[in-house]
Amino acid sequence: MSEPPFLSIEDVAVRFPVPRTLLDRLAKRPPRAVHALNAVRLDVRRGETLGIVGESGCGKSTLARAVVRLIEPSDGRIRFEGADIGSLAGVARRRYNRRVQMIFQDPYGSLNPRMTVRQVLDEALRVHRMRPPADIPGRIAELLELVRLPADAADRLPHQFSGGQRQRIGIARALAVEPEVIVADELVSALDVSVQAQVVNLLLELQARLHLTVVFVAHDLRLVRHISHRVAVMYLGSIVELGATEPLFARPRHPYTRALLDAAPDIDPARRTATAATRGELPSPFAVPPGCPFHTRCPHAFDRCRAERPMLTPRTPDHRAACHLTDFGVEAIDAEREWM
Ligand code: SF4
Repeated sequence: MSEPPFLSIEDVAVRFPVPRTLLDRLAKRPPRAVHALNAVRLDVRRGETLGIVGESGCGKSTLARAVVRLIEPSDGRIRFEGADIGSLAGVARRRYNRRVQMIFQDPYGSLNPRMTVRQVLDEALRVHRMRPPADIPGRIAELLELVRLPADAADRLPHQFSGGQRQRIGIARALAVEPEVIVADELVSALDVSVQAQVVNLLLELQARLHLTVVFVAHDLRLVRHISHRVAVMYLGSIVELGATEPLFARPRHPYTRALLDAAPDIDPARRTATAATRGELPSPFAVPPGCPFHTRCPHAFDRCRAERPMLTPRTPDHRAACHLTDFGVEAIDAEREWM
């Protein structure tokens, strides 16, 4: 019998109900909800780095939070080694929480300002009983060495560190419980550009050394390209393109991916064009457009796009796109060509 997928996201939808105002009640308006994720289907492979990219509000952080159970799906399920994580309880749930760790975007907000680094790491090691008490000081020293912080960092408070150092503390705290999966949500977006590369390269090195699986959520395509084996592109709560990083960046099959690339000046400069950058505002997640959710901004939209939602279907064995254009055998979306 074949092994179940390592981490499997199966048709996950997340809706956040919006409280009804008095005016809504008087006007008898139906209850509304923000559609943050719409039937997302995705497998994460053991040992890979999967980049999840898209504009702010596309649902990528909601997906990350659903994976670590900070948000419960409204529909669908997430399986880890075949087990539905929503049904885990007691020891099994704690084990999942240990094996799948999240590193948050905000290194300032995610550390208790009154706890020294030693206390932060000590707490993580004790809660999950990772080491006998006598071995904890040695393990703390190892963790600091792993993230390249000096040994004397242990007895300092978070405000005594730079943003990059604080993010290293966040990584050390996640690694303390020896996870198999790291979910990094905008890991470096709060940091200066000069520090971003150091932290991302540290994560890459740790991923290889500790055989981690990494879900790397970011809006910066350069970072995602640098770090990821595969990339999922999200738009309005759905995955619109998914594939191995280099083929996806070299030959995008979805106009939204093309527009993101064209809006990122350092990527693929030979193909930059102002006309293909994403046009117009992101539609409201209260009212996702019918048909293809991107049709209100797509330079290639045609009648079918307004009526029929495209499915995420294979274009090559390791490349999927949700676009009617690629149904016609279009091999890559080039903004400078006229399709219709
Ligand atoms: Fe554009 Fe139509 Fe493709 Fe949607 S399905 S991305 S509107 S061409």
